[in-house]
Formats: sequence, C-alpha cells, structure tokens
Amino acid sequence: MKKQYDMLVIGGGPGGYTAALYGARAGLSVLVIEKLSAGGQMATTEQVDNYPGFDEGIDGFELGERMQRAAERFGAESLNATVTAVRLDGAVKRVETDEGALEGSTLVIATGASPRELGLPEERALRSRGMAYCAACDGMFYKDKTVVVVGGGNTAVGDALLLAKLCRKVYLVHRRDALRASRIYDKALREAENLEMVWNSRVTALLHDERVTGVRLENVKTGETSEIACDGVFAAVGRVPDTALFTGQLALDAQGYIEADETTKTSVPGVFAVGDVRSKPVRQIVTAASDGAVAAFFAEQYLAEQQD
Ligand code: NAP
Repeated sequence: MKKQYDMLVIGGGPGGYTAALYGARAGLSVLVIEKLSAGGQMATTEQVDNYPGFDEGIDGFELGERMQRAAERFGAESLNATVTAVRLDGAVKRVETDEGALEGSTLVIATGASPRELGLPEERALRSRGMAYCAACDGMFYKDKTVVVVGGGNTAVGDALLLAKLCRKVYLVHRRDALRASRIYDKALREAENLEMVWNSRVTALLHDERVTGVRLENVKTGETSEIACDGVFAAVGRVPDTALFTGQLALDAQGYIEADETTKTSVPGVFAVGDVRSKPVRQIVTAASDGAVAAFFAEQYLAEQQD
C-alpha cells in the first residue's frame, strides 16, 4: 500500500464509497479509510427500500459491501483503521491512523453521524445492559420482551416497527403529539397491535438493577409522572455528527456539521464533506451517494487547478 494518494476518503458509507468510485473511475489513486465495515450507518439497516435500483429492497450491509466492491473494481483501495488526527492546512492533507500516517492531495470526509444520547445520568453505564441505540443491531436480544423506543423521527418509527415484529410489546415515547417521521409509516403503525404510542412524554430516568427494568416518564403538558416496566430502551432521538477530528480546522455549523454547500467544498481548499456529516436538509443514502459523486468531480477539478 502506498502512502500518498490523489484522494483520501475517511468513512466507508455510501458517500465515501461513491466518491471513491467516481474518483477511481476517473483515474485518481484513492484510499478509503473505514474503522469497521463498509456501509457505515446504512450497514445497520436490515431493509433498504429507498435506494433506487433494488426493486425488492436490499439489506444495508450487503449494499455497503457492493458499494465497496464497485469502487475497488476501478482500483480504489480500502484500509481498516481508526483515524486519530488530521492536518488539513497545506497542499498535502495528512491523516494519522492507528495503522500509520497517510497523505492525500485531496480529502473527502464521510464520517457520518452517531446516535444522540438521551442525556440521562446512568445511560452510559447501562449501555448493553438494556440501553441500546440500534434496533437492527440489538433487537434480537429483546425477542419476546418489552421495550421502549424514544423519538418521533424516521429512525424511531422504523426501529419501533422492526422491534414490534420481534418483541412482545413496544412503547414509542415521543415528546410531542405529532411524529416527525414520514407518513409512509402511518399504516404500519396503525396495524402493529403490540405497538403503543405514548405522546407528549419524555424519559426522565432509567429504572434499573444490574440491567434496565423500566423508565420514568413525565408528561410535558400536564407534568404528570408515570413508569413503564421494560427490558430495554432504544434511543432514536437523532444523530450528532462525527466531526471531533476536524474542530478548529474546518468551519462547522451550530449543530457541529461541516459547513459545505451543494459543491461539498469545505472552508479548506481540497477538503470535501459528503453525506450525513455535511450541513444539508435531507440525509438519505441517495443524497450521501450524490454528494460522493459531486465531491469527486470537484476534487478532480481542484487537482487539475493545482497542476496549472
Ligand atoms: P430526526 O429526524 O432528527 O428525529 C429525531 C427525533 O427525536 C425527533 O422526533 C425529535 O423530536 C426527537 N428528539 C430529539 N432530541 C430529543 C430528546 N433529547 N429527547 C426526546 N426526543 C428527542 O432523527 P432520525 O430519525 O435519526 O433521522 C435522521 C435523518 O435520517 C433524517 O433526515 C431522516 O429522515 C433520515 N432517515 C431516513 C430513513 C428512511 O428514509 N427510511 C430512516 C431513518 C432515518 P421532535 O420531533 O420534537 O423534534
């Protein structure tokens, strides 16, 4: 493996591997650095129905692997490593990893976002002991049990519906009286008999012994408190961008996403941000993939300008 590339990509989700595909196909030397497996957050989704071209849907993990193979077909390389530091100033972008240092003439950041915590006192200590953040990953541990899902967006509703197929009972706790999730889920929500909505409520405490045993709720309209006994709590209250590596080196918006417009150009020339980590209105697999193609286009243009 050589250490200097035309394009380094951090993150192997749909944005990262699409940038790699377009870059490699245009003849650039490309390396994708990914800490786990291809697909990023998408790989934890059991059934992807809204990525075009798969008329019966596709497993997110498989789609990730296919995207990786598609980029590698044109010569892109992949490295399993954790990025520990980056240096973005100067013509050469330097990336330190636990597998050694790498250099790129351009850098595509595709680090995505991680689940937001509920912010409850013992939440971290109870992780993997009843506190969970990914229904597709951990749902099987709650087969025939009772779980609480927190949130009102697409992730919360998708998770609640997935869990309703496995669990005895699912409570979906949302802090308002209307979902943010797409209306596409309405019918399935109505038809899931073991799924109960708990509106206008927030979780104020995790009840537990060694493991989670329940949640305490507060009705935000009446102030009334109540408890639900459960075996697991799945938080699905949005995501926080994985931008800690770039703080102080790139312009970030108020929520911590990397500021970049539809060109995916960041505040540093030669550095591009794609997918969920970029400030943007719609975070979908297809929009991440679109960003990847755009980033590769402007990376190529940037490299050509550097040679002039
Ligand atoms: P989201 O759309 O930001 O929704 C987060 C939900 O959590 C909102 O309902 C929000 O309540 C609630 N929330 C936020 N902070 C909270 C807190 N501290 N306590 C309690 N509730 C809290 O996040 P997401 O569902 O993870 O989706 C992220 C993006 O991925 C979205 O763009 C979404 O469309 C996309 N996505 C798409 C699909 C799909 O197309 N199938 C699947 C999953 C995700 P409020 O509503 O009151 O703000």
